[in-house]
Amino acid sequence: MPPFDLVIFGGTGDLAMRKLLPALLHRYVDGQIVAGTRIYGIARDERSDEAYRERVREAVAAAAAADPRVAECVDGFIELLHYRRLDLSGEAGWPEFAAEIGNDPDRVRVFYLAVGPGLFAMVGDRLQAAGLSGEGSRVVVEKPIGKDGASAQVINEALGRVFDESQVYRIDHYLGKETVQNLTALRFGNALFEPLWKAEHIDHVQITVAETVGLETRAGYYDQSGALRDMVQNHLLQLLCLVAMEPPASLAADSIRDEKLKVLRSLRPIDNGNAAQLTVRGQYRAGAVGGKAVPGYLDELGHGSHTETFVAIKAEVQNWRWAGVPFYLRTGKRLSERMSEIVVTFRQVPHSIFADLPNASPLAPNKLVIRLQPDEGIKLWLMHKVPGPGGMRMREVAMDLSVEETFGGRQPDAYERLLMDTVRGNPMLFMRRDEVDAAWHWIDPIRNAWEVNHDAPKPYTAGGWGPSAAVALIERDGRTWHEDEG
Ligand code: NAP
Repeated sequence: MPPFDLVIFGGTGDLAMRKLLPALLHRYVDGQIVAGTRIYGIARDERSDEAYRERVREAVAAAAAADPRVAECVDGFIELLHYRRLDLSGEAGWPEFAAEIGNDPDRVRVFYLAVGPGLFAMVGDRLQAAGLSGEGSRVVVEKPIGKDGASAQVINEALGRVFDESQVYRIDHYLGKETVQNLTALRFGNALFEPLWKAEHIDHVQITVAETVGLETRAGYYDQSGALRDMVQNHLLQLLCLVAMEPPASLAADSIRDEKLKVLRSLRPIDNGNAAQLTVRGQYRAGAVGGKAVPGYLDELGHGSHTETFVAIKAEVQNWRWAGVPFYLRTGKRLSERMSEIVVTFRQVPHSIFADLPNASPLAPNKLVIRLQPDEGIKLWLMHKVPGPGGMRMREVAMDLSVEETFGGRQPDAYERLLMDTVRGNPMLFMRRDEVDAAWHWIDPIRNAWEVNHDAPKPYTAGGWGPSAAVALIERDGRTWHEDEG
């Protein structure tokens, strides 16, 4: 790739230091970022290029210590970095900054907004006023894109006044994960699954994104947001889309995004009338995670709050392919383990020829488990005869494909792929504006129903799997949350 400019607004923040800069270093190590590229960190305090470079050196120290190839490249990478002081809410300094960056239409300029969403619209206007919004410029925005449909619209309209939609890259870093991309490969690169991928053969789908962490340093943001906005509106719905979408005509970005949009628009609405039956919200109390005692949400926060740290939802995609198939979604903080997975459970065989055998155990339905983290991989659970004499004894066993064992090597972080896609100009793994709107359109009535119904979050003990109501949500239907049997 030719040299480019990448400007990280919020270049000293947690996201930049923990994710973006280490990701860029790895791309540099692999030769994708060449000499002549400029990477700018922008924030409000005064510091020199040298001081910034030292800070980044510390931020990438762990990556360098883990791999001598990376360690060798740190000095070269650091040379590409610059720091500029700019208060994004003020007008001072923009002309000088614009003169330095330039507006050559043939050189790619990526402006990464690693700052709060309150600044998105303002930065767009400043970039335009400084002449930096033209051809060659791209803008990357992080979640949260608003806190509801109306505020997302304000942000998207503000960006839309300055940039063409093709210049706006809305990141959902889940889409950059290798195993999430592999969902598309699995579904459309194999003849095996697609004929079965419908209500006729699939009983239900579960999507779980479980975290063990609590609030950490994000209390201010999280308490205004909650699990529904922070996780379901983006990550879980995007995963649901990739499972449920129709085969796109090609890998072209809009071809895939058109299909995801149709799924979002087919979701059965959840509102005051049915939210109590179809949703569960929870909030953790003190408990123990991984053997370590942890405080409850309200203790961590220091004041009362009705923000949910857990959500479970029974969703349904109302179209011919999926009618009647529940999609059970759940996500939460301070759960038993850090784990994200999609479980597709197939229907039972129509008739068991094994039922009359002495000691016959029931046939378990086949399951396809796509593990996103940790231990990325795929397991296909099948019924198998237990070898040896003793009749036809059957057991459920897993065909197990571990990404690490099969492919070896380091698994690149999602941001590596996504950052380079912004430079390459490939929006396939980014959300289009209408997708964001459609996701909020489904989420807002749920939030509204909770408010109208005064549905306070149900307490759950940290270190478990959420409130008992979340178990009841699925068990009412005669199903259970998937537990990996080994
Ligand atoms: P953070 O640690 O608070 O960093 C914010 C950065 O923005 C700092 O560099 C800060 O530096 C700078 N900044 C704030 N106001 C500014 C202004 N007026 N002008 C110029 N610079 C300003 O936040 P973060 O965790 O990195 O998150 C950044 C954004 O990414 C947020 O929207 C967040 O929701 C989103 N996000 C973060 C993560 C994550 O893992 N951290 C994950 C997903 C999404 P100064 O205060 O020195 O100016």
